[in-house]
Amino acid sequence: MSKVIIFCAPSGSGKSTIINSLMPRKELNLAFSVSATTRAPRGQERHGVEYLFLTPEEFRAHIAANDFIEYEEVYTDRYYGTLKAQVEKQLEAGENVIFDVDVHGGMRLKEYFGERALSLFIQPPSIEELRRRLEGRATDAPEVIRQRLDRAAYELSFAPRFDRIVVNEDLENAKKEAYNVITEFLKCPLTQS
Ligand code: ADP
Ligand code: 5GP
Repeated sequence: MSKVIIFCAPSGSGKSTIINSLMPRKELNLAFSVSATTRAPRGQERHGVEYLFLTPEEFRAHIAANDFIEYEEVYTDRYYGTLKAQVEKQLEAGENVIFDVDVHGGMRLKEYFGERALSLFIQPPSIEELRRRLEGRATDAPEVIRQRLDRAAYELSFAPRFDRIVVNEDLENAKKEAYNVITEFLKCPLTQS
């Protein structure tokens, strides 16, 4: 039975870098979850590939119909959510579905999927190092970096509630650790399948 892997981390921790190193590993058979969002597509993003881009009205109609496993207003007026039907489609295709969601979404997905899910928290060595990485990545304005750092302190308090914490200090070690933890989890038979 295919499984679910949930990644959470404060922005700048190295989550995308680690996930991108895992996706091409054929033996893991990973597919990226396609969330719904009300934010506008960025750059080359396509509907149905990176996200399902919905209007606020469409998003609210799905909320009313109880179509989401979880949804969050991650930033003001920006909704993100996981549609049950979308995940079921991917799991039924036999793929292990990988999620990149905020900490609240991560907690709820773990609750929903139970032992079928592994929740991983990617932890930066410190807030100072997080600041250096966000500044080094140079994708955000200073004000956005400040907002991300404020939120990071809050998100870090959720780390103990995850199945595993991977500290991303040395990138190669963190990639290896994430790979090993996931491999071990995928091998483990489910008790209630
Ligand atoms: P996230 O997806 O968690 O927001 P990214 O994967 O975009 O974070 O990483 C943020 C920045 O930090 C990127 O520029 C990335 O190259 C860099 N980075 C990631 N891991 C490390 C590490 N272990 N040491 C130093 N820099 C790192
Ligand atoms: P971005 O706009 O940069 O693509 O994503 C912003 C944030 O939304 C990220 O922190 C990401 O983890 C979170 N996110 C993306 N999809 C979902 C989702 O379906 N549910 C929740 N709760 N958060 C999500």
